[in-house]
Amino acid sequence: MRGVRVWARLLSVEQTVIEDVDFDGEAVVIAVRPGWRQRRRCGVCGRRCPGYDAGEGRRRWRTLDLGTARCYLEAEAPRVSCRRHGVVVAAVPWARHDARFTRSFEDQVAWLACECSKRAVSELMRIAWLSVGRILTRVAAEKRASFDPLDHLRRIGIDELSHRKGQRYLTVVVDHDSGLLVWAAPGRDKKTLRRFFDLLGAERCARVELVSADGAGWIEEVVRERCPQARICLDPFHVVQWATAALDEVRREVWNQARRAGQTAEARALKGARFALWKNPEDLTGRQQATLAGIARTNEPLYRAYLLKEQLRQALKLPVEEALALLERWLSWARRSRLPAFVKLAQQIAAHLSGIAAALGFGLSNARTESVNTRIRLIARRAFGFHSPEALIALALLSLGGLCPPLPGRGC
Ligand SMILES: [Zn+2]
Repeated sequence: MRGVRVWARLLSVEQTVIEDVDFDGEAVVIAVRPGWRQRRRCGVCGRRCPGYDAGEGRRRWRTLDLGTARCYLEAEAPRVSCRRHGVVVAAVPWARHDARFTRSFEDQVAWLACECSKRAVSELMRIAWLSVGRILTRVAAEKRASFDPLDHLRRIGIDELSHRKGQRYLTVVVDHDSGLLVWAAPGRDKKTLRRFFDLLGAERCARVELVSADGAGWIEEVVRERCPQARICLDPFHVVQWATAALDEVRREVWNQARRAGQTAEARALKGARFALWKNPEDLTGRQQATLAGIARTNEPLYRAYLLKEQLRQALKLPVEEALALLERWLSWARRSRLPAFVKLAQQIAAHLSGIAAALGFGLSNARTESVNTRIRLIARRAFGFHSPEALIALALLSLGGLCPPLPGRGC
């Protein structure tokens, strides 16, 4: 009797009867059956229902390794007939529906996927990255069903981002108050965004006070239609992104000129300068600082573009009054800069001034939006290899949406 309790604890299973433990030469195989109350329940909804047949007989679920050996739970997998879901395989207390792994195995995979590299997860758990994708989708769907992250949304950020080298896009929604990612879906168009507001429902839409976005027309249109009371802001983070893009345009132009003029050494230096120009000055390495100093000496237009970008970034960090005053001066400087990319940027910023002012006035945390944004991009890069955007979205919601399960056996 004591042995059985030890096994139940080791395997982290509940409502499960341990029948037998065997070692088949390669793996530990543990014969189990659902406890009395867990029998004959629909695999989808968990309701009690009449039995249908024996299904495909006994099957195995991979569970956490025992020491260094693989371990499986083995049990009958009968089918039941649910009034709502028809003939389905009966639920088992140790695994999610349709899974080949136990709940504790899947929870550990999800936790690891949020914390470690792709390779670490695959090697440690001895599973293919594609299986990881399916596990994450199941875990995220279950967590979402038990808690609605769309409740209490007051200030949200809507963003679009590309994954898979710019071919595919996601629309994501972030809660500015909690900093959590609350929703994501493939696509970037009005139809996709309307699905979010459908899910939110009229009552909760009416409570949204502020929506920040990247200045895209399609987002503003849908927000005006569904949340007419909400103030639309432009995330200062995106304004800095525009400036970084303008700076890159100047760099490419100067680089092309140098190349055409046959100044190969200079062209090479400019190519390598990309990161020094992009980074915030406080994060520059010694070598990058030297690169930048070199540009200041030899390349006046490029250095001017760099200063324009930096001053804009600094201005947007200030309290609203000071920021707007500085922004006015910045605009006239940019217009006179003789750098076409920055003249254009000045026009773009002038057109969005009220949205920027609103964001600064509401004290939207630029750092937080930027950090969520950067982390989603990193996740998108890691999720490369999942074939479906659903797996990427699941990973993003688990790591950035507060849905990640605790490690098995550690409580909440
Ligand atoms: Zn059912």
